[in-house]
Amino acid sequence: MTVRVRFAPSPTGYLHIGGARTALYSYLFAKARGGKYILRVEDTDLERSKREFEEAQIGDLKWLGITHDEGPDCGGDFGPYRQSERMQMYKDIAWDFVERGLAYPCFLSSEELEELTEKANAEKAAPHKYHGKYRDFSLEEAKKKIEAGEEYVIRFKNPGKKWEFTDLVRGHVTFPEDMVGDFVIIRSNGMPVYNFCCVVDDHKMGMTHVFRAEEHLNNTCRQLMIYEALGAEVPEFAHVSLLVGEDRQKLSKRHGATSVTQYKEMGYLPEAVTNYLCLLGWSHPDETDIFDVNELGELFDYKRFSKSSAMYDIKKLNFFNEQWLRKLDDSVIARGFANELEADSEYNKQDQAWQTKFAGLMKEKVQLFSDIKEHLPIFFDAGADEDDQYKEAISWETTPQIKEYLKEQVAAISSEFISEDQVGEWMNYLKKELKIKGKPLFMGTRVCLTGRAHGPDLKTVVALTPISIIKQRLN
Ligand code: GLU
Repeated sequence: MTVRVRFAPSPTGYLHIGGARTALYSYLFAKARGGKYILRVEDTDLERSKREFEEAQIGDLKWLGITHDEGPDCGGDFGPYRQSERMQMYKDIAWDFVERGLAYPCFLSSEELEELTEKANAEKAAPHKYHGKYRDFSLEEAKKKIEAGEEYVIRFKNPGKKWEFTDLVRGHVTFPEDMVGDFVIIRSNGMPVYNFCCVVDDHKMGMTHVFRAEEHLNNTCRQLMIYEALGAEVPEFAHVSLLVGEDRQKLSKRHGATSVTQYKEMGYLPEAVTNYLCLLGWSHPDETDIFDVNELGELFDYKRFSKSSAMYDIKKLNFFNEQWLRKLDDSVIARGFANELEADSEYNKQDQAWQTKFAGLMKEKVQLFSDIKEHLPIFFDAGADEDDQYKEAISWETTPQIKEYLKEQVAAISSEFISEDQVGEWMNYLKKELKIKGKPLFMGTRVCLTGRAHGPDLKTVVALTPISIIKQRLN
C-alpha cells in the first residue's frame, strides 16, 4: 500500500514554525517510505481563512523545499484539496449518519445550551451530560422542524465506550468513556467542524499516516468515533511533541519570530531552518547535527521521535544558519551580503571580484547575511574604534614609527587598492630595518592601517580597504 501523508494547515495566518515542522515530518516520512505527501487546506472557518494566507503558506513551504505531490495548486486524484470545495460531501455524510441513527439534528438554542451547561456545572457533572436532549427525538419531527426553518446543528451520537489506539510517538493511548459527549459535526451555519471533515478527508484521500502536534491528541478521541461510523480504517497517528520557548511554555509570538515568513525575510537559509526544525523532537541515527534533510531518505523514521517537548532556541537556529552559510560558494555569500545592504552602500559599489574575496574573508564572522552590516566600518569607515586595546597599542613607543613609515609608503600609491604582498613587504621592512617584532609589530600595524586592535586576517583586510580610507587613517 502506498504511504500517503498529508499536512493540513488552516489558512488563517502565516505558516507557524511548529506547522512547518509538522509539514517537514510528514514530507520526510512520505519520502522515506516512497510515498506521497499531500497538502490539504482546512479552510472551513470562512471568516478567518484567507486565500492570501494559503498562498503565503504554500510559498513558505516551497521555500523550505517541502514540496507536495498533490494539493490545491497542483491538483491530484483525490481533489479538491480545499475543504471549502468539499462541502456537499460533508453534508451528505453527516445526513447519512443521521439516517443511520449515528447522529441527530439538535435544536438547542445557545441560551438553552448555556443554561444546561450551568446546570451541569452546579452538579459537577460533565457539561455534555445534558446536551443530548434531542438524541432520541423522532427524525420525522426533526425534519418538520427543519422545514419550518428552525436552527439546528448536527450532533454525533457518542456510542459511549472506551477509545484507544497506539500512537507512533506516544505509545498506547486510552480515552475515558465520558471524555466527550454528543459533539457537533455540522454547525448551525451549515459548516462542518474540524474533527469531522478532517476524518472524512483523511479517509477519502487515502491517508495512511497522520503527523500532527501533541495538542491534537484529545481530538483523536472524537476522530476515532467518526472513523468507526464511516467504517473506515484508522490511519497510523504520530502526535509529535510540543514546541516550547525557553520558559517551557508553548511557543508563541511573545517568544519572538514564529512564522516562517519572518525567517525568510530575516535572511535565514532554508536548509538551516529545515535542518534545525528536523531536530526539534527527532534525532539522527548517527547523532549528527548538520545534515541536509533531503538526504535523510530511509533514515527518517518515527522510532527516533522524542516524547518530551522540544525547546525552540533561536541561538541554536543561528548556529545552524552559520554552519550552512559557510558551506556556500563565496560568490553566493557575496550576493547574500549584497541583498542585505542598500544599493548605494560602499559594499555594493565594489566589483564582483572584490565582493567574492570579501565574502571569503568574512563568512566566518557572521551567522546571518545581515550580520555583515556591523563589520563594514573596518573597511569603509576612516574613524577608529578607540577601545582600551586600541589606546594601549597606539601608546606603544614603536607605533608612531610604524605610522610614519606607512604614511610615506601609501603617499606614493595611486591605485585604489593594494595587494596582500605589499602589506607583507611593509611588515618585513618594519621587522628587519626598524627591528619591531611580535605584538608591537602586528597590533601596531593593525591599529595604524585599520583603526582597530582586532579584526580578520590583517593582510586581506588591508587589501580590501580602499587606499583613500587607509590614507585618512594614517593622517
Ligand atoms: N487544520 C488543523 C490544524 O491546522 C489540522 C490538524 C491535523 O493535522 O489534523 O491544526
